Amino acid sequence: MSADTISEEIVYLNGDYLPISQACVPVLDRGFIFGDGVYEVIPAYGGRLFRLDEHLGRLDNSLEAIRLDNPYGHKKWQEVLSKLLQQYGDSDQSVYLQITRGVAKRDHGFPPDTPATVFAMSSKLSTPDATSLARGIAAITSTDTRWQNCYIKTIALLPNILLRQQALDREALEAILIRDGRVTEGTASNVFIVQHGVIKTPPKSAQLLPGITRDLVVELAHANEFACEETNISEAELNSADEIWITSSTKEILPVTQLNGQAVGHGQPGPVWHKMIAIFQAYKAHLRKQSKS
Ligand code: PMP
Repeated sequence: MSADTISEEIVYLNGDYLPISQACVPVLDRGFIFGDGVYEVIPAYGGRLFRLDEHLGRLDNSLEAIRLDNPYGHKKWQEVLSKLLQQYGDSDQSVYLQITRGVAKRDHGFPPDTPATVFAMSSKLSTPDATSLARGIAAITSTDTRWQNCYIKTIALLPNILLRQQALDREALEAILIRDGRVTEGTASNVFIVQHGVIKTPPKSAQLLPGITRDLVVELAHANEFACEETNISEAELNSADEIWITSSTKEILPVTQLNGQAVGHGQPGPVWHKMIAIFQAYKAHLRKQSKS
């Protein structure tokens, strides 16, 4: 498969590689009926899957939490995802995979002896544009109305969708969520602040998704001798932060320069973000040069 020879995107569904228009799931799939499934988004730089073990480890945790066996071992996952990557060669990509509890008569209880539905696709990675990086983005704060199991990467994203739309309706790109007076995360990102030179992000808990990018930023901060703490962040600390960043596999590290219509710090991406994004980009460049496993 190469970009020259295929006219339509090839996706993976239950053991087959097929054009996306032919990939169909029965209407009784529990993903469609109940949102009963989990997913992962894994970036690939220069054809290399980024932090695959960590992403597959998080997938295992999500599956365990919803009491669904992983249909494949890690080796098989690597095989499937690597094959999908070949379509776009060595360009940067984002791989999406989803597992649902399969197709069964509609009933809330787990269906016996039902194979999971497994779907995966790869698309070109679209990272933040130059303007967003130069100016930063706008965010709002919203009450975190989600459930108590936000560490599960569930496909049931209606709360996140409604909260994100609140942000878009106010011409902002992300909603930073507050639960009991503390920052949890964004609707599709983790949150960092910088306060008096110290980088802070909320500790991992059931109230937020343990972001793979979040962990990398914490790791890079320590490796480069930045002061960095995994600690609770109050809404007041968020409002008075010198810098705010959001992180995710596709947003990477994005500076928030407007919060609820007010400037964050000087209203420009801050000096700590500038240093961190340079370290992050160097890390990615290094990865692209490594041999493919
Ligand atoms: N929190 C939520 C709710 C998310 O949807 C995401 C993106 N998948 C993240 C955090 C960031 O996770 P990652 O860095 O692994 O993309």
